[in-house]
Amino acid sequence: MAAHDAWALICRLFAGGTPVLRATLSSREASVLSVLGKAVKPTVVDQSFVLCPHCQQHRAQVWGDGRGGRMCRCPDCGPVTIETNDGAALALDEDWLRQKMRLALGIESRDGIDDLGGGVWRLGEARRSPVLLARDLSRVLHEPALLDRVRVAGGDIQVITPRSSTTRGSPFGTGVQWLRLEERFTFYGGGITFIATSPSATPVVADSATPVNGPFSADFRWATLPDVQATPIQFTDGQSKVLGALWAFKGEATTAERIMQRAGLDSAKPSDLFKIKTKDKGKPEPAAQHAAYGALVVTQQRAGLYAMPCAAAGKEVAMT
Ligand SMILES: [Zn+2]
Repeated sequence: MAAHDAWALICRLFAGGTPVLRATLSSREASVLSVLGKAVKPTVVDQSFVLCPHCQQHRAQVWGDGRGGRMCRCPDCGPVTIETNDGAALALDEDWLRQKMRLALGIESRDGIDDLGGGVWRLGEARRSPVLLARDLSRVLHEPALLDRVRVAGGDIQVITPRSSTTRGSPFGTGVQWLRLEERFTFYGGGITFIATSPSATPVVADSATPVNGPFSADFRWATLPDVQATPIQFTDGQSKVLGALWAFKGEATTAERIMQRAGLDSAKPSDLFKIKTKDKGKPEPAAQHAAYGALVVTQQRAGLYAMPCAAAGKEVAMT
């Protein structure tokens, strides 16, 4: 939890781009300061002008109130009392952030970091893919020339920014990937770690794909086979019927006819539904479905028998 809170504070400091007063940190934020080490550095905020605490709209000069306290004169609110604080603040070490981001992404050290101005940096190239770090997504969205400056032939651009309150999903066209700083990275062991897949991007899939019958989801629409694909594999309606039918025979070798009858399908044999059609050549989903079938089903060609060995293991579990 500490690592998560530490990363949340780093992201907040980066998004804001200015030091924050220690006095304004939440107790959770204050509790992770010791974990953050070199990522944050103490600083002092000039207290001769403050943001009006009442309207948060105007910066106003600070005066003594003649009784030992302090106040500011806001053009809208008039005199507003300011709670005393010593101006002790902390700031994110942004050089630290950019260097650790490069390490997390495996960016070669020989090409340096380019400051493109206005809170946008080119961190370098990760596997021939230019990486931009920006304080604000809208800046990159509204200035496409920034992308043209870093674009290379044959490599997608990765744009890393803090979350946006107004934008979700994929705001850029093809060839540009948006990675949310809060979700795709985390603070770990004094550095930064890249999270390869976004857990929140596919919450529906994660739930309905949960393996219940061996590697299969409850409805056989999904299989979790890490050797075939890192993420769960989704099947078509017909494919899931065939897989469910094979599962029902509990690992015993069975004829194609009985399996297809049980599945309620017209095709001659189970493998018919897993062939890759010519129009689907090169598409990842049919390839994964085909590979999953190959990994799950044992075929005795000559005898015309099919078996699903993992369903036999399921039987043993069910009997205990
Ligand atoms: Zn005010």
